[in-house]
Amino acid sequence: MTSQTPRPEKLNLVPFVSVDHMMKLVHLVGVEAFLSELAGEIEADFLRWPDFDKTPRVAAHSTDGVIELMPVSDGALYGFKYVNGHPKNTRDGRQTVTAFGVLSDVATGYPLLLSEMTILTALRTAATSALAARRLARPESRRMAIIGNGAQSEFQALAFKAICGVTDLRLYDIDPEASARCARNLAGRGFSIAVCASAQEAVEGADVVTTVTADKQNATILTDNMVGPGIHINAVGGDCPGKTELHADVLNRSEVFVEYPEQTRIEGEIQQMPADFPVTELWRVLRGEAKGRSSDQAITLFDSVGFAVEDFSALRYVRDKLAGTGLSVDLDMLADPDEPRDLFGMLLRAQTA
Ligand code: NAD
Repeated sequence: MTSQTPRPEKLNLVPFVSVDHMMKLVHLVGVEAFLSELAGEIEADFLRWPDFDKTPRVAAHSTDGVIELMPVSDGALYGFKYVNGHPKNTRDGRQTVTAFGVLSDVATGYPLLLSEMTILTALRTAATSALAARRLARPESRRMAIIGNGAQSEFQALAFKAICGVTDLRLYDIDPEASARCARNLAGRGFSIAVCASAQEAVEGADVVTTVTADKQNATILTDNMVGPGIHINAVGGDCPGKTELHADVLNRSEVFVEYPEQTRIEGEIQQMPADFPVTELWRVLRGEAKGRSSDQAITLFDSVGFAVEDFSALRYVRDKLAGTGLSVDLDMLADPDEPRDLFGMLLRAQTA
């Protein structure tokens, strides 16, 4: 900094969006409008996919779960998310998935935003699923089965309503109370809802099947006989090595679309398949460079694992939406001595102050 450049005030303060503020922001915008606008931001970033410096997420696995860091940059902004996945957590009152994230200025390295991302992850996952389905499902799709009716489920339903026009839901969970809660939470939002006694019953007549279960094993939520021609499968719950939801026969019959193959081949449904199993990157479909669904009879599969670009888009969107709302608090997060090199002097002055 030269003597001509006035020193900006409050360089140390970073806006922080708490869970409470995030919920207020979502209600201020409206849940469905939030999901639609966020899908627009995610699409805009997918359309400039080559601009991003991308890497598969860094995962620390343990017996019961995983903790992951998800970094990405477009050269001007840098974002990362901390996220966990612990299916056993709900048994003692904790969430399966929790998250927070940071957006930073690449030019200075200074953080611009720190935010809760547990709610934001549910929103961005649902927005991405619906964005993919808008391109991959048959356009007249109105009926969706949701298998796994936990924390992500209502967000998925609302995104598919707002973005794809889904109106009929068929819910199934191994815990009937989870389905009952999901149905209650979605009452009065314009859905016709059927709670089903099995996954098989839920997929009957469905145009779209969303699998969003949590179990740290190679589960078989969908077998080949359950999947008829023309269905779009939105497979969300298989997102970790050794944690999948679909039988390999379903993959063999499907046209498979992924976010970032380098990450999905490690974490997605396709971890069950050979390394050269053919997949299409969603961004190429969105850009019109690759074909989506090949026919009305084809089975399309979005093998979602969640990629850092979606979190980057979400943080960017929240930062823009915050303007003028007062829905953040400034955190004294960065040491900021008046003379940048006098860090120790600042510490000394704090002692005498
Ligand atoms: P959650 O624990 O709140 O809910 C999971 C639900 O699945 C529970 O109600 C459970 O009873 C049900 N379930 C488990 N096994 C089942 C089975 N065999 N059949 C039917 N239902 C079953 O978890 P959540 O936060 O809703 O997350 C769901 C899954 O989605 C997790 O595996 C999570 O890791 C994954 N996830 C993926 C993304 C992504 O971007 N792809 C993002 C967020 C979460």
